[in-house]
Amino acid sequence: MTFDELDARAATLDAAHAATDLRERFLLPPGTVYLDGNSLGALPRSVPAAVRDAVEQQWGHDLVASWNTHGWWDAPVRVGDAIGRLVGAAPGQVVVGDSTSVRLHQSLHAAAALRPGRSVVLTEPGSFPTDQYVIAGVADQVGWRVEHATPAELAARLTPDVAVVVLSHVDYRTGELLDLPGITAAAHDAGALVLWDLCHSAGAVPVGLDEHHVDLAVGCGYKYLNGGPGAPAYGYVAARHQDAFVNVVPGWHGHAQPFAMADDYVGAPGISRARIGTPPMLSLLALEAALQAFDGVEIGDVRARSLSLTRFLRDAIADVVPGSAFASPEADERRGSQVALRHPDAYGIVQALAARGVVGDFRTPDVVRLGVAAPYLTHTDLVTAVRALHEVLERGEHRDPAWTTRNAVT
Ligand SMILES: *Cc1c(COP(=O)(O)O)cnc(C)c1O
Repeated sequence: MTFDELDARAATLDAAHAATDLRERFLLPPGTVYLDGNSLGALPRSVPAAVRDAVEQQWGHDLVASWNTHGWWDAPVRVGDAIGRLVGAAPGQVVVGDSTSVRLHQSLHAAAALRPGRSVVLTEPGSFPTDQYVIAGVADQVGWRVEHATPAELAARLTPDVAVVVLSHVDYRTGELLDLPGITAAAHDAGALVLWDLCHSAGAVPVGLDEHHVDLAVGCGYKYLNGGPGAPAYGYVAARHQDAFVNVVPGWHGHAQPFAMADDYVGAPGISRARIGTPPMLSLLALEAALQAFDGVEIGDVRARSLSLTRFLRDAIADVVPGSAFASPEADERRGSQVALRHPDAYGIVQALAARGVVGDFRTPDVVRLGVAAPYLTHTDLVTAVRALHEVLERGEHRDPAWTTRNAVT
């Protein structure tokens, strides 16, 4: 296909998907095609005024009364419910605060308490490093053995000693989307719990936590949920597990009567039991405002748009850069919301693209990650990106010696 033909095809697809074009709800710099919303989501238009109000009115004027008058105290559960809508969790099962690493640590300890006498945590090789480190850390603390299995090997490895299966719903590097319903059911048949990491799926892919009887889940607020740098993470505890949920960090915000200032810990009922300490309120309120970008939108419609975009991007790259090696799956039902390419000069490609206003990212050792946040991208944006990729490769810009030293954040 020529670029003129790609432009025409993109215009047709953009018209067909006009109803889910939410670009107006975001503030993006002109001239940039932002393909890194799976690392740091773009800024929703609703956020700056909300943050200004939180700082100037709530903190600056109303001061400590804001814990009551501006709903600060209830915010972790209120914002949790808003995220719950996007991941298929009925209210009262998601709590916001702390980082994904902390939420994962907490959820794994809770899983150990829910499955006493079982000695294995089963996970996949090559998952996001913090997940691997935290799993190993908790395994040491509770006396579990860590076992690794690829998704294809999982079923055969679900022996009666497995306490919990921990997986990323969408792989951060390849964008592979796992069969959450099937794996969850198989784990349950073996008596194990399932803990899903939703960092690369929440806000992009339907998850269906309640529908598929997931036990526990965690995820971060700053990727497809657009909560901003350092946005707090969230944890999901299915209602049926909440009474037996043991909070490894039994901080005072999770106490049944926090202002009784009692000497002994008594966990609150419901999801509040998973609260820890004072949340980062400004970030939490920014995240709450950011979630307004999804108001009136069903995640299934976001997914339909995302699939059209990633399919178009993949086909266009295959067309324009023959011989491209894709790390992301070809089948729609196996692909999350990104297109990942393998190339020996992946780092240089990402830098040269960024110099042309096309922002993706690099993941070691050889992956160019092009994240497709459907709400604020169009097919036409993707032609711009593919055109840039074509020119970078044609002119050898990816081999510029300037790219031989890597930034701290890639
Ligand atoms: C982004 C990401 C994290 C981030 O963890 P933090 O503790 O919030 O920094 C964790 N796990 C996965 C799979 C991720 O993609």
